[in-house]
Amino acid sequence: MTIRDLVTEYEKISKFLNTRWPLKNTDHKVFARTMKIMEELGELSDEILTSMNLQRNTKIEKFSQENVEDEFADVMASLLLLGIELDIDVEKVMKKKIKFTKERFEMED
Ligand SMILES: [Mg+2]
Repeated sequence: MTIRDLVTEYEKISKFLNTRWPLKNTDHKVFARTMKIMEELGELSDEILTSMNLQRNTKIEKFSQENVEDEFADVMASLLLLGIELDIDVEKVMKKKIKFTKERFEMED
């Protein structure tokens, strides 16, 4: 699956979400999507802390790599949904960022 494929799938999901939970305008959608990223980052952080045995025992007992992967995917999904609302070309900006990073650290292609 390419980034383009991912964005296409999340554009469909975004349309559904905007129908199911209609918000007044783009500002509200951007705000809601940003808050969702924060929520999902919190959930991923919780799983990471659990993986490091830095949570209470009841959480540690329920730890699984699958939970970490699910929360990682939630963060990616919520970022893609924000990108859609902000009309960001995810593939283009990531290519630009990879180029910038490689040049910054003088890496070869
Ligand atoms: Mg989650």
